[in-house]
Amino acid sequence: MIWYPYEQMKTMKAPYEIISAEGPYLHTQDTKLLDSISSWWSVIYGYHQPQITEAICRQAAKFSHVMLGGLTHEAVEELSEKLASWLPGDLDYCFFSDSGSVAVEVALKMALQYYVNCGENHRKTVLALNHAYHGDTFKTMAVGDDEDYHFVLQVYGDNPYVVHIPTDIASLEAAFDRYHDELNCFIVEPLLQGAGGMRMYDIAFLKRARELCDAYGVLLIFDEVATGFGRTGHRFVADAVLPDILVLGKGLTGGHIGHAVTIANQKVFAAFYDDAPEKALMHGPTFMGNALACAAAKAAIDLFDRLDVPSKVAHIEEITRRELSGFTDPRIREIRIMGGCACIEVYDAETLSGYQQFAYEHGVFARPFLKYLYSMVPYILTDDELVHIFSVMKEWFRRG
Ligand code: PMP
Repeated sequence: MIWYPYEQMKTMKAPYEIISAEGPYLHTQDTKLLDSISSWWSVIYGYHQPQITEAICRQAAKFSHVMLGGLTHEAVEELSEKLASWLPGDLDYCFFSDSGSVAVEVALKMALQYYVNCGENHRKTVLALNHAYHGDTFKTMAVGDDEDYHFVLQVYGDNPYVVHIPTDIASLEAAFDRYHDELNCFIVEPLLQGAGGMRMYDIAFLKRARELCDAYGVLLIFDEVATGFGRTGHRFVADAVLPDILVLGKGLTGGHIGHAVTIANQKVFAAFYDDAPEKALMHGPTFMGNALACAAAKAAIDLFDRLDVPSKVAHIEEITRRELSGFTDPRIREIRIMGGCACIEVYDAETLSGYQQFAYEHGVFARPFLKYLYSMVPYILTDDELVHIFSVMKEWFRRG
């Protein structure tokens, strides 16, 4: 039996069975659904994307996987070179993982060991944001601040090595003032906190964070697993404010195969590069640098440039604003829009109960969570398809 994610297995409603998927559509036996959330925000160029699928098949004809311990291959070399030249600044050192959570774990371990390697063992604390979500593995849960997902962790009591702050500059400055001696890193989802409730904040906060990290020698980590590859309107937020470590996942392969990467800058890499074996990064997921995933990622990055994703996302944002701006309902607390993401936050989660089935009946796949009804659309939607997604949302409120 399949144990489904985030579900009470006893009471969960049966999932929709997908028999094929093409472009922005999921096909069931009886109907087709416009995917408004890109399979957990990953399938950004649509399903069964021809160039990505072809790259995977071409690689599979050679081999699908070899380990990176003691071996290497062309697909991973090409991808790491492409990422190094494509990403901003000196973010050049790519450590691959099989999922976003693991890639964040790697980033946190890198930050801790960076200081251990530099002889500063007292820098044990991680600074993170209120409502942070960075994955479901243990350290990512500890760094997160999300009781709805990770309440099981409460049995341990307070985590002494994590400090959470809101996204205002006064709180940021106060935290650096108080904790700078013990911090090894400040980790954020830049501009848009996805699973934490589609919360949006200003880039001035990140610019000030960069200054404070520089002033106090604290590493800045951007978890762009969700925000990367155009979602916020930036190609990466890292293009506007440069972190020391960048984490990418989800859209990396166009959502065609699970893979992720932690990319360090020269300063971080240099602290590990040494004759001493104990300064090495002791991590190595079995499927890191998987050849099919690397081939998919390389094709997906080519596609990103060819499609000019930032201008596509700008267009999506424009239509989203046109369709949702001014829409009100007494049950709605706030509507937030950024790039290819829109969120209707309601006061009471009950307001959204039944929405998924309603959307299904109107040809849309949606998955609201808690008090958040949101879209994270594939970038390849037509204007009409996009308008349809928002019409269904508005209709739900109109019907009361
Ligand atoms: N970081 C962020 C910001 C995420 O949104 C997610 C997943 N939603 C993760 C990390 C974890 O990625 P994965 O599910 O691939 O482990």
